[in-house]
Amino acid sequence: MNKKIVVIGSSNVDLIMKMDHLPEKGETVTNADFFQVYGGKGANQAVAAARAGGNVAFVSSVGEDAYTPQMLKNYKNDSIDTRFVFEEAGIASGHALIMIGDQGDNYLSVAPGANYKLTPERVDQALPVFEEAGIIVMQYEIPEETIKHVIDLANTRNIPVLMNFAPARQFDFSYIPKIDILVLNEVEAGFLAEMKVKNEQDAEQAAIKLIEQGVEKVIITLGAQGAFVRSKNEKIAVPAFKVNAVDTTAAGDTFCGAYAVANAEGMISRVALQFASAAAALSVTKMGAQPSAPTRTEIEDFLKQSL
Ligand code: ADP
Repeated sequence: MNKKIVVIGSSNVDLIMKMDHLPEKGETVTNADFFQVYGGKGANQAVAAARAGGNVAFVSSVGEDAYTPQMLKNYKNDSIDTRFVFEEAGIASGHALIMIGDQGDNYLSVAPGANYKLTPERVDQALPVFEEAGIIVMQYEIPEETIKHVIDLANTRNIPVLMNFAPARQFDFSYIPKIDILVLNEVEAGFLAEMKVKNEQDAEQAAIKLIEQGVEKVIITLGAQGAFVRSKNEKIAVPAFKVNAVDTTAAGDTFCGAYAVANAEGMISRVALQFASAAAALSVTKMGAQPSAPTRTEIEDFLKQSL
């Protein structure tokens, strides 16, 4: 069996209301449709990697609320190793409250809840899984000190770190060179490289800047325009697959999860990018984050038909 893909990150419960218009301050909209789904970038990427064929362990903190048992059951159903999903007492799991208007405009608020209990001490309790890790995958919905602690632990053990720097927010930039693979969309690339990124050319300049700081590979995702990987000496770009996009939420998460699998299996850059792009393209054809992550067979069949 391949070494483990260890995803360290958030678990969220998403509560979504779709309505014909967003309320004004003090207004009550009474004809909304309600959906409850499971999200959190960490969980989305763990699920995407597991469905794409990865041997996945997930390190996360969940809380005590009515949704949590189902959330854990979902991870197990996808054969994810949940030994280090910590159940925190006296706090709710991370929740996102989302209101969507008819134009797709939205109000969004997130309560990190138990995600902020994923401390460096919790990570130390999960140390046994580092011994089995082929790659560590993180996003930025857990505390900064935890991310830095994981990077230090991984660096001393020579475990490559793939960091999806999302959402983009204040970070100790001295840690950037210690990351092996950065996966960024244009906004995140601009934020990290401290420059304006408006197109693919700008994004490549941002990637080069980050590589000069010591990052080995920078992958930039460009939505329906595709993705490219930049390393010191080369750029490999692949277009997005043409699909009927229904919901692009978590396209980036599915991309990261599938890319981690491709990387763990030693696929060469172009093939790995195609594999991740195929998984992401399939995910945008369905509603929801975790429900839309495709299986290995679906990805392989799609690649056979599309390439
Ligand atoms: P994020 O959700 O992090 O902003 P992107 O929107 O850049 O990420 O999407 C990540 C990847 O998902 C893209 O590089 C592409 O491969 C795929 N993707 C996103 N949107 C589409 C689309 N409309 N059609 C096909 N593939 C898409």
